[in-house]
Amino acid sequence: MAQLSDDCFAFGGPMMSVDEAVGIIAARVTRVEDVETVGLAAADGRVLARDIAAPLPLPPFTNSAVDGYAVAGRDLPQGEAQAYAVSGRVQAGGSAPAPVKPGEAMRIFTGAPMPEGADTVFMQEDVRLEDGKVVLPAGLKPGANVRPAGEDIPSGRAALTAGQRLRPQDVALAAAFGLTQLGVVRRIRVAVFSTGNELVSPGETRAAAQLFDSNRFMLMAMLARLGCEVGDLGILRDERTSLASALKKVAGDHDLILTTGGVSTGEEDHVKAAVESAGKLVLWRMAIKPGRPVAMGIIGGTPFIGLPGNPVASFVTFVHVVRPTILALSGAKLQPLVPMPVRAAFTYKKKIARREYVRVTLRNGADGGLEAVKFPREGAGLLSSLVDTDGLVELDERVTLVEPGQTVGFLSYASLL
Ligand code: AMP
Ligand code: MG
Repeated sequence: MAQLSDDCFAFGGPMMSVDEAVGIIAARVTRVEDVETVGLAAADGRVLARDIAAPLPLPPFTNSAVDGYAVAGRDLPQGEAQAYAVSGRVQAGGSAPAPVKPGEAMRIFTGAPMPEGADTVFMQEDVRLEDGKVVLPAGLKPGANVRPAGEDIPSGRAALTAGQRLRPQDVALAAAFGLTQLGVVRRIRVAVFSTGNELVSPGETRAAAQLFDSNRFMLMAMLARLGCEVGDLGILRDERTSLASALKKVAGDHDLILTTGGVSTGEEDHVKAAVESAGKLVLWRMAIKPGRPVAMGIIGGTPFIGLPGNPVASFVTFVHVVRPTILALSGAKLQPLVPMPVRAAFTYKKKIARREYVRVTLRNGADGGLEAVKFPREGAGLLSSLVDTDGLVELDERVTLVEPGQTVGFLSYASLL
């Protein structure tokens, strides 16, 4: 089972920067070693376990890039158009009936193998047929409109790398190599709990002072996007002993335990105490807004992360703490989040030495450039602020003021997972 090494919990400083937190996670989380084999159709989103070098060149044989007429490069029309006898026909998947000789052109179609003797193809749009011959214009370069074997990827070239999360185009490359199965890291198993006496699951009866648990479903959906196998463990009451035993119980068969709620400093926030009694705890006071404290720990050898209960804080801290942990557990490269420059259409005052995320919607400005419009309210409990926006503007630690027209970095929600 994957583990966080103990010494990371020597960390108890007053405020930890987001980069520091990510660095500690990347350095301390041990990757899951188990590899499984999946068919191509099930490979998207999985983390590749081993490097793959091209077992054959792509394209595997030299072929025509267009529909047209194939000729020898040393037999091209010089100075003016010239008529050639059409010596045969070769289509995709077929083979040429004979080599192409001087004075001859062979009808050829896109993807068809180049006939022996030919290395140049005239596009059919550029020629005309006259008296049973094909008239080819002058001026084409030898080798034009041909795709040489291996021009895309030569045989033996490193093509896919262990630790990369497979995308549709990566799966296509594996298929082009003729592979049918890929070795991938097994899915990371995550146990998810909500905590709070005020919560009931959708479908249950809600008392007047209760609300439906929404975070658990948000977090499970985010984990699913990261390719995790999610264990939905429901809602835990605000009570130390039962919390502790529930957390202990799931430790053995999961790679990560995730909770939401109960990590603030109120006296009804029992998650910290429960983790302390079930394992080891450190509270990360991250310099991030929305965020508040995030609890980290180890329970029975399994990493534990306790996210705040406010939906927006839960969302943002997931991105900066849970995402890197999942990637580290699966041995995936931590792709840095790269904000896209957009123009702020808002004023915002911010504290120095703290990373802040502003929920924004994008629109086209008068000059066609993209502008970020701030969601009008700021509460970390406003689910509508996540639903009605396109992403987050990231303001780094040094920023204290944003003014309209200033360039800021935008992270779309889609780019975060
Ligand atoms: P806590 O972090 O437990 O103090 O919770 C902070 C706020 O988030 C409270 O208003 C909770 O009711 C709310 N909250 C906590 N957990 C959830 C949840 N799973 N779904 C929706 N709201 C929650
Ligand atoms: Mg609570």
